[in-house]
Amino acid sequence: MEERFTQVAHDPIDARHHGAIHVPVYQNSLFAFETYEAFEQAFQSLMHNHIYSRGNNPTVDYLEKKLAELEGAEEAKCFASGMGAISATIMSCVGAGDHIVCVDQAYGPTREFLSVYLSRFGVETTFVDGRFIENWQEAIRPNTKLFYLESPTTLFFELQDLQQCAALAKSIGARTVIDGTWATPIYQNPLALGVDLVVHSVTKYIGGHSDCVGGVVLGSRELVDRIGNNEYMLFGAIMTPQTAALVAKGLRTLPLRMQRHEESGMIIAEYVRSLPYVQQVNHPGMPHHPQRELAARQMSGSSSLFSFTTNVPLAKMKAWADNLQYFKIGVSWGGFESLVTVNAAGKQPEDGCIVRLYIGLESPQDLIADMNRAARELSLAAGS
Ligand SMILES: *Cc1c(COP(=O)(O)O)cnc(C)c1O
Repeated sequence: MEERFTQVAHDPIDARHHGAIHVPVYQNSLFAFETYEAFEQAFQSLMHNHIYSRGNNPTVDYLEKKLAELEGAEEAKCFASGMGAISATIMSCVGAGDHIVCVDQAYGPTREFLSVYLSRFGVETTFVDGRFIENWQEAIRPNTKLFYLESPTTLFFELQDLQQCAALAKSIGARTVIDGTWATPIYQNPLALGVDLVVHSVTKYIGGHSDCVGGVVLGSRELVDRIGNNEYMLFGAIMTPQTAALVAKGLRTLPLRMQRHEESGMIIAEYVRSLPYVQQVNHPGMPHHPQRELAARQMSGSSSLFSFTTNVPLAKMKAWADNLQYFKIGVSWGGFESLVTVNAAGKQPEDGCIVRLYIGLESPQDLIADMNRAARELSLAAGS
């Protein structure tokens, strides 16, 4: 962990930026050349020369190099959003007639992209309960080209064994892609476990301030350059230089924030587990998590997004959310502010609900007092 603090804080002095201590925003579309020879030379490597900002902008390039270092990747490419990175990366792995195996709890829009959008082009996807390697094995077809992972998933917080999945995919000549947004590069580095490509929504913890939307893909120079030259250049879902500068600023405190998030997240998860109206807490960092051993093996820490199930009816839990002062009602996560969403657990009111909590940077004691107050107003028993 210690080396992370230096990695994010330190930059070599870069003469191109006049020694500016923080990367400047290069607010320009094109880059001019002194000679025609230099101009033509630059086209030899579109991804590694500054020609046009839908390709390679110096501010975005700076962020890509910082993220690649944190993830232990040769190369990174930043996108306009997490979905920009995810859709481009998936497209780079398949063609018409190919087959994908995907974890069934993957992020909703990713699932929709695979099951609805890509099926228009003759790409089929099988969704599996990703916890068991047998399920991946059984789903394999002769035309399987991609295993798509998301570990942990972000409603039920189930894990896939990254090493086993990557080895199985490799044995049939398929690629492995993982959405690693939950753990961030601070707590999980899938490339070291054999995964080919990692994607993150930098909108979440990496940006960390709920002020911009972005994504990144990381991996070998060969694979990332191929995405850069094709899906990045052709679909054009590029990260703007302003966004790159905001994310780069957020990155300075990523290790610091993740330590705080982990600590506060565990405190709140313990508290929630003590509540009489809570049935189950889904948090991969807690000792009772059914995949705790795997979590400890492939992650070095936990972030602060988790869920719990309760038999309190949906309408009452929504009223509980209304009563909260510090937890805001909203999508996304990864910023400074705590958030809550309430989802129906089944079709009937007595099925109760699944509540997702995101623990921000506030005092955990204040957050607990907030939840106790919200519960008391509804005559739900308070916890300790
Ligand atoms: C938010 C999110 C995404 C999508 O990222 P955007 O930046 O919103 O496009 C993908 N995966 C996970 C796990 C997410 O939480």
